[in-house]
Amino acid sequence: MFDKSRELFEEAKKYIAGGVNSPVRAFKNVGRHPLFIKKAKGSKIYDEDGNEFIDYVNSWGPAILGHADDEVINKTKDALDNGFSFGAPTILETELAKRIVRAFDSIEIVRFVNSGTEAAMSAIRLARGFTSRDNILKFNGCYHGHSDSLLVGAGSGSSTFGIPSSKGVPVDFAKHTILAEFNDLDGVEEIFKKHGDTIAAVIIEPVAGNMGVIKPKDGFLKGLRSICDKHGSLLIFDEVMTGFRLTYGGAQHIYNITPDITVLGKVVGGGFPVACFGAKREIMKYLAPEGDVYQAGTLSGNPVAMACGIATLDILKRKNPYKDLEKNTSKIVSRIMGLANQYGIPASGESIGSMFSVFFMENKPSNYRDVQKSNLRLFTNYFIGLLERGIYIPPSQFESNFITIKHSLEDIENTLVAVEDIFKEIA
Ligand code: PLP
Repeated sequence: MFDKSRELFEEAKKYIAGGVNSPVRAFKNVGRHPLFIKKAKGSKIYDEDGNEFIDYVNSWGPAILGHADDEVINKTKDALDNGFSFGAPTILETELAKRIVRAFDSIEIVRFVNSGTEAAMSAIRLARGFTSRDNILKFNGCYHGHSDSLLVGAGSGSSTFGIPSSKGVPVDFAKHTILAEFNDLDGVEEIFKKHGDTIAAVIIEPVAGNMGVIKPKDGFLKGLRSICDKHGSLLIFDEVMTGFRLTYGGAQHIYNITPDITVLGKVVGGGFPVACFGAKREIMKYLAPEGDVYQAGTLSGNPVAMACGIATLDILKRKNPYKDLEKNTSKIVSRIMGLANQYGIPASGESIGSMFSVFFMENKPSNYRDVQKSNLRLFTNYFIGLLERGIYIPPSQFESNFITIKHSLEDIENTLVAVEDIFKEIA
């Protein structure tokens, strides 16, 4: 069923480190080789062996409209025809920036970059420059890209491989990153009592997606806001995953909390390499060329990528699909939980907007420590069973699944048939 992908992976490994350009793509922790993808359209993705899958990875988040939306393709092609990189300002950058600023009260000014990693790294530098402090506080299991100071206690790829941080990160860099447990406000307060006047910023995924989906407990984000205010630290919301996915805006709108800096990625580029960070003018003016915090990029604000982002946001604004997405997502999770119950599989589900996770453990996790209790053998059986039945989910327990506006009720029903089949088998 996957012979060609296996051969292509062997070939890729001769030329590309580990055969992939991002570790989690390798399917290593589920003991498989990755599928080589030939094309994708709507809710479906097709591999080089000719298999069709209902896709719940969706490029790890950007494809909220489903794959290869015709309107987005046409608008992106129009930009491509004008040339694809100038290293000079274009109207398209201002147009995408305007849409983001209008969607977020917390943002007056943005700076575009090419990846969420760059955006989070630059947001941290900006916070350090603004406050003249060195330390930052992040949460165990939250992932903010692979820059040195943020690859400490990271989730996603790192937790997948069971390594808390990476070799190659000097201890001297990591020592400026203080770790706290997600949803543990008392813990954060303790840390601030000792180190408050040294902490430039608290960075958090307001809804965690990189240890599987974990929501903030009531009052947790509000508590962080007041701790930051009390100690003169900035609050950074990393909404790379949640931005324009949970609402036409971010988790900050759902929880009604205003961060000082917001980091965005994934959906803002519609599948092209775009990310940004934004804040009020008084903070953003610290950035070069106005200020002394340096940040730059040869391909930043690339016109083709900007056009794809604009087209994607315009469709989201016009269609406002968020209620329907939420309805479909909670339906899929509650039905999977019903099946787990029926077949005696220890499982708990979490969803918000179009993000969801199925954890193989009885109680819903509320932090990274909890998630470690998940039964990874069951997860692996679930993953492989789904793959063999034409359903493509992230190859890790510590990730979010995504649905798109192209996922039909038929797709959902077909997914549930596959899930029931697997639960019967592994019960
Ligand atoms: N922040 C969050 C919340 C993410 O989910 C990710 C990637 O998954 C990143 C940052 C890093 O983004 P990128 O992979 O574009 O560097």
